[in-house]
Amino acid sequence: MTLANNDLPALPQDCDFVALDFETANREWTSICAIGLAFVAGGRVVANPSWLVRPPQLVFDPGFIKIHGITADQVADKPEFCDLWPELRQHLEGRIIVAHNAEFDVNVLIQALDLYHIPRPSAEYSCTKIIAQRTWPGWRRYGLAALAERHGIVFRHHDAGEDANVCAQVALRACAEKSAADFGRLHDTLNITRGRIYPGGHDKLREGNIILPAFGPWESRLHSRAEQVKRQQRAIEIEGAVVDPAAGTGVVNGYDVTLGSCTCADFQGRKLPCKHIYKLYFELQKGC
Ligand SMILES: [Zn+2]
Repeated sequence: MTLANNDLPALPQDCDFVALDFETANREWTSICAIGLAFVAGGRVVANPSWLVRPPQLVFDPGFIKIHGITADQVADKPEFCDLWPELRQHLEGRIIVAHNAEFDVNVLIQALDLYHIPRPSAEYSCTKIIAQRTWPGWRRYGLAALAERHGIVFRHHDAGEDANVCAQVALRACAEKSAADFGRLHDTLNITRGRIYPGGHDKLREGNIILPAFGPWESRLHSRAEQVKRQQRAIEIEGAVVDPAAGTGVVNGYDVTLGSCTCADFQGRKLPCKHIYKLYFELQKGC
């Protein structure tokens, strides 16, 4: 799983982004026991190193061992996070970091740096879970394993290097899906403001409203209204719908739905898209 040494091939200056994954030994944020990185340049992963790491205390929660398979014996003689940091810093400083459930990995990074009294690097970050939700709305699950399966990627989940690689692949596929010229542009399209860490600070990632195109009889700008955004969010949570893609109709939660109408009380009262219409729309998008 882990490279015997930490040598990386020379990275191109125009590295688009770096995918990052931490595994921890227990509930403590700082108990890092594995780190994986995947460097993307020119639309592909150019390096994918990983390290086993000795956490500050050699305490492994059995539940965590079950998840990633890493034990205290395997990391007892490995470097600690602070030993690896000088090299890691070179690869993260000034870049866009992406992780799946990024707030977890960013918190792990920040707390580990604080523990060792190391100043934070300056870097932006983004989250492939949020990217995936906005790129492929209506999918039932957005965990890394579910996304890998949808994209036909075979991997060993909770291996830090492999998780980082899949995270990078998901980000690249989202760029392709949205025809984004680069990773930065993808965030404009999806209305995501990247988070940022810097010495002494942390600005969290912010999600703007999902920008939906016009569909059915509805104008695009209608979908940005707060009360409509709520219905889109509820639509994402609806599990299952019977859809006829050819007819563009469906049955959602027992209601007969088209892109312009629904038999539910919400639609009958407002004559504006209800969560069932959004669910139908998202389902129809999946087939494209
Ligand atoms: Zn409805």
